Amino acid sequence: MFKESNSTAINENVKQENMIHKNEAFICKNCNLPVKKHPSSCRNHCPHCLFSLHVDKEVPGDRKNPCHGLMCPISLDHSGKKGFIIIHQCEKCRAKTLNKAAPDVDVIAMIRI
Ligand SMILES: [Zn+2]
Ligand SMILES: [Zn+2]
Repeated sequence: MFKESNSTAINENVKQENMIHKNEAFICKNCNLPVKKHPSSCRNHCPHCLFSLHVDKEVPGDRKNPCHGLMCPISLDHSGKKGFIIIHQCEKCRAKTLNKAAPDVDVIAMIRI
């Protein structure tokens, strides 16, 4: 009769408030090339085609966004110390996001945009 425990309910209440460094290898949904882990930070775009996925909502790496649309790189910014900033627009909900380019991003692919 008393086999069910409350332990699973307790685990759901543990939430991370800080920026989550979700760093994992994945296959790009746009070009189908394998993407390696980011060398130092949170990977969120493909270094081959610069496409990203609309998965983060409030903080980078939270993966709370239910959209999951493909994010197209619409423009590039170069701001002094920060290096290249990629502006992505979601093809599904049209939201725009700014992303610091990963250090291993193919700069030649960037110039082609
Ligand atoms: Zn790609
Ligand atoms: Zn979206």
